[in-house]
Amino acid sequence: MNNPFQNALSQLSKATKAKQFPDSLIEGLSKPQREILVSIPVRMDDGSTRYFEGYRVQHNNVRGPYKGGIRFHPQADINEVRALAFWMTMKTAVAGIAMGGGKGGVTVDPKKLSPGELEQLSRGWVQALWRNLGPEVDVPAPDVNTTPKIMEWMSDEYEKLSGDTSRATFTGKPIEYGGSEGRTPATGLGGYYVFATLKDQAGIQDGASVAVQGMGNVGGHAATIFTENGYKVVAMSDSKGGIYKESGLDPEEVESYKKKNGSLKGFPGAKQITNAELLELPVDILIPAALENQITSDNAAKIKAKLVLELANGPTTPEADESLFGRGIPVIPDILANAGGVVVSTFEWEQNRASEHWSEIQVLEKLEKLLVEQSHNVWQRATDLNVSLRTAAFVIALERLEAAQR
Ligand code: NAD
Repeated sequence: MNNPFQNALSQLSKATKAKQFPDSLIEGLSKPQREILVSIPVRMDDGSTRYFEGYRVQHNNVRGPYKGGIRFHPQADINEVRALAFWMTMKTAVAGIAMGGGKGGVTVDPKKLSPGELEQLSRGWVQALWRNLGPEVDVPAPDVNTTPKIMEWMSDEYEKLSGDTSRATFTGKPIEYGGSEGRTPATGLGGYYVFATLKDQAGIQDGASVAVQGMGNVGGHAATIFTENGYKVVAMSDSKGGIYKESGLDPEEVESYKKKNGSLKGFPGAKQITNAELLELPVDILIPAALENQITSDNAAKIKAKLVLELANGPTTPEADESLFGRGIPVIPDILANAGGVVVSTFEWEQNRASEHWSEIQVLEKLEKLLVEQSHNVWQRATDLNVSLRTAAFVIALERLEAAQR
């Protein structure tokens, strides 16, 4: 079993081999500054009370307030949330935004809750943790299975308890409730900007084929955006399995089929595949956009893609990373590839604090400019140090964290 936090530490250790950093910096980053575990009571529709385990890990705030999403998932546990919080510290540093790293979660299968139970759980998470949150302290956002509606409930609960009406404590809110234009597609779109910046260096042609694992907020938008830009999405999947069509899928058709039927089973004209098979398809670009530990030592040698764009957090284990690097397959790492979400979340936080509302064009132009610049930085550093893009991104993040700590 791959422990995501151990994987994160091994990525960190690899970066210190590419460039030396003070021991105190590395030791400080190896442990979160604070971890909070809470038990959240929910009165179920049948009258019983259930208790759900909730978390907030505040990994590091030397560069700004803790920032990171909240995950509702049956497999969410403290090791996973700790790893995700660590990656947020590195991500905000690579993106060059003045935020730190944090992450939250609840061990729950939200599909098994009624809307009322889900709202109680969301508000309960805030009731248990609100004293540790705030615009200058810790600013959560959505992650797997948490939606703009959930952010609205959480923000509303925070406002009631704290009296702070700025709405700057939660990002990823609905637009009519203080959210930012462009936040919902931001992670997928940001991934596309990063890809488009580096594709020539990576030897990818216009119109190349793409397989996308996961079709939630991130994977769903990525599939649409790649298609709109002339790429051919040949495979998509959700937690139950996927479909493959060599001549290309229409992501919007796939989404509406799933909405109607609950899964991709029986999708006309496409071959049914498993998530494991999707990863090994003969495509140009592989986009993991679901969960951690998908490309491992078991399947890395079978990956046929020419480029991996990590839109999920932690989809590639350190052993798989080595194997892909050895085979000359660039992996655009999560902390760069999916940074678009936290960047636009930070724009949302800035707008809430200044009581402003920026246009979609303003938001997207700022996002693109920032990601294009940071993508070039990472590629250049990888070339200079002759290391993987991940190790280069870590080196850049560590330099910025070191400067802030000093
Ligand atoms: P989501 O809940 O909207 O969607 C998750 C998707 O993954 C769903 O389609 C689900 O069916 C699928 N899935 C779940 N388990 C799977 C499995 N075992 N195999 C294949 N597919 C599976 O979540 P999201 O917000 O799209 O997040 C996806 C990934 O992107 C996560 O790793 C998350 O941490 C990362 N991420 C999200 C954001 C964001 O802004 N939402 C930002 C950065 C990174």
